[in-house]
Amino acid sequence: MVQEDLGFSSFRDLSGIYSAREFVWWYNGHPDSRYLNPDLKSSDTAVILGQGNVALDVARILLRPTTELATTDIANHALSALEKSSIRKVYLVGRRGPAQAACTAKELREILGIKDLHVHIKEADLLKTQADEEEMKNNRIRKRVYELLSKAATSRPSHPSSDQRELHFVFFWKPDKFLESDERTGHVSGVRLEKTKLIGVNPGEQMAAGTGQFEDLGCGIVLKSIGYKSVPVNGLPFDDRKGVVPNVRGRVVSDTSGDHTRLEKGLYVCGWLKRGPTGIIATNLYCAEETVASISEDLKQGIVTFSSASSGREGLLQLLDNRNVRVVPFSRWEEMDSRERELGNFKNKPREKLATLEELEKASEE
Ligand code: NAP
Repeated sequence: MVQEDLGFSSFRDLSGIYSAREFVWWYNGHPDSRYLNPDLKSSDTAVILGQGNVALDVARILLRPTTELATTDIANHALSALEKSSIRKVYLVGRRGPAQAACTAKELREILGIKDLHVHIKEADLLKTQADEEEMKNNRIRKRVYELLSKAATSRPSHPSSDQRELHFVFFWKPDKFLESDERTGHVSGVRLEKTKLIGVNPGEQMAAGTGQFEDLGCGIVLKSIGYKSVPVNGLPFDDRKGVVPNVRGRVVSDTSGDHTRLEKGLYVCGWLKRGPTGIIATNLYCAEETVASISEDLKQGIVTFSSASSGREGLLQLLDNRNVRVVPFSRWEEMDSRERELGNFKNKPREKLATLEELEKASEE
């Protein structure tokens, strides 16, 4: 699974530009992003590209008072950096409108509820077209999100007070290129945006198209949060267009012809590789249950059997060993988990994340 690509290459390597994935890993204590050290001090403004739930998560972390974050399970190194952060304004940039925003209502409510936050949404962006109405008619979540955004736009003072942090929803603009700072060579100083208009592609579906009108939005940090895509695995069927392994209720089929009889016997898939990078945690639970039900049915009907001695758990462990993959058994994971909880206890946090492999190793050996 990799982060989607923006489709333009200029100044991609400037410092101060991060993928939301690595930023989320950083504040969640993932060892691979422990030393990301995002630049939170060179300016008061952050731009987040995308308006999905991950974009909202990232904005929430940047804007929520650190006294509140301190009681969550946020990684300690991230909390310290956020305490020193100079970011006061966050721009969430969407290429489509409030009727198409990719986030869901619960996550939106959460960010709109941040204490002392000024939320800015242009009222003109909230004007609905017939096509918008059509789209929302068939999508309860979109409708709810639109209502929440409208309420936020109209029920608050139009200007922030001096001590307020600001969240700006920017609709109908898409990124065109990153801008390099004149003072700090190699560092990002903003994003050039292109105004978009929506064009109907299918009934109930509108896409953003550039209009040739450009504007620059200055900032000291950019977070790219434009979704994910699966990558093919050698030897495994893959539907490039949908970015999934073709399957029927989790049973892998050998090509994308739609012929459901061409099953890859004994091969199953679940999660984003099965249905694409969408859905909340509960969606993944149902998705896994469906695949497990398919496996159970196939076992019951004798379609698949544990035919050789190397099958099942033992077979998997043997395979991992042959490939020199280190395995952390559940018992060691439990030790790491209880160590994190114990450390959190001292600080009134649900847990204190162990954010390096060394710390994790040590915890499971104690
Ligand atoms: P997402 O929901 O797919 O949102 C991607 C955003 O990026 C959309 O606003 C999309 O706009 C925009 N985008 C895509 N390509 C772009 C481009 N080339 N230029 C500009 N903008 C572009 O992805 P996500 O936020 O990474 O979330 C992934 C999944 O995880 C989602 O299903 C989400 O709900 C889920 N998730 C759930 C939770 C939770 O349960 N609390 C938390 C985090 C994530 P368009 O709509 O115009 O394509």
